[in-house]
Amino acid sequence: MHRNFKNIKKIVIKVGTSTLTNSDGSLNETLIKSLVAQICDLKNRGFEVILVSSGAVGAGMGLLGLDKKPSNINEKQALAAVGQVALMHLYERIFWAHSKNIAQLLLTRGDFGDRKRYLSVRNVCLKLLSLGIVPIINENDPVVADEIKVGDNDTLSALVAGLVDADLLIILSDIDGLYDKNPNTNLDAKLINTVEEIDENIEKMADGDGGKFGTGGMTTKISAAKMANKIGTNLIIANGKMPNVLFKILNKEKIGTLFLANQKKLSSRKYWLAYGATQKGEIVVDDGAIKALAQGKSLLSVGILDVISEFERGDMINVKSRDGKVVAKGISNYSSSEISLIKGHKSDEIEQILGHKSDNDVIHADNLASKDQN
Ligand code: ADP
Repeated sequence: MHRNFKNIKKIVIKVGTSTLTNSDGSLNETLIKSLVAQICDLKNRGFEVILVSSGAVGAGMGLLGLDKKPSNINEKQALAAVGQVALMHLYERIFWAHSKNIAQLLLTRGDFGDRKRYLSVRNVCLKLLSLGIVPIINENDPVVADEIKVGDNDTLSALVAGLVDADLLIILSDIDGLYDKNPNTNLDAKLINTVEEIDENIEKMADGDGGKFGTGGMTTKISAAKMANKIGTNLIIANGKMPNVLFKILNKEKIGTLFLANQKKLSSRKYWLAYGATQKGEIVVDDGAIKALAQGKSLLSVGILDVISEFERGDMINVKSRDGKVVAKGISNYSSSEISLIKGHKSDEIEQILGHKSDNDVIHADNLASKDQN
């Protein structure tokens, strides 16, 4: 039995720490060699591949002989800096043995948050692919503090998939896929073959905890799948230790868990608005406005209840419901102080209240990504 998903050309492969490292934290060279051999073979067959690789902290631990992840942030960042070199050195040696060149891109949240930087990362990735080079991406952990991090490589890989418009995102972990409950603590857990829609039931299956070296567990993988599926990318979670795992996936064999891409693809700009752009302020809207936004309409002043934090005209803001949930994100045509004055009023009253009117909408539909909009 084979899977039936669209033809694949551009693939992002994310390999987790628990796959790349041995139980003592050192890098699992045998496994890395096998993955690289498969990637090179795929490249020879015409696939474009981007690798998102964790493993820097693990590699640093192995190199310095530590058996516990340090809890101190500076120590962790120092380890990541040491380990990143070891990791890339290993990749370089193995890719060279297959006559393939690699490139390193160390990214942070800010590279996705700023539109210009985002487009420049996209261009460099696409250039590298056109040159036949394999970009290897990781979060630039040594230079970013927690609050400005993407935070985990599952999310990073989904951002990268959106960035390059990948056809398939493969997340390789130490587990065969998504089980209906955490298989490490439930012997009767069953592997799920295909997820057509990520609903609450699916989200509940995830147990957030990864292993000793892993980070996000299944929670971040499911949220990465939600993101990737929205931009039209299929996502497969599979076991990195399964022999020829990448070949099997591309032969469309039914291994791992496939999260099917949404039929209706979010535009690349809306994907960036929803997941990349950094927000500067927040407003609260009423239920009628939430409904309108979900239908892809613009946000009008009449549905705005409150301004929570300050921002300028042109800033990216969070739109929240009364109970504090983010329902949409978008670029505001008015500043927070202007919105404080026009909230609850109809658009044709704006000029009279402010003495000027730049736009009918507070956030235009084109500059708005709603949580429920597909
Ligand atoms: P990686 O380093 O590959 O990102 P993690 O260790 O962070 O991997 O996440 C994988 C782990 O998630 C699995 O080994 C398992 O312990 C845990 N997990 C939690 N809930 C589930 C589930 N429902 N199905 C599969 N694995 C789960």
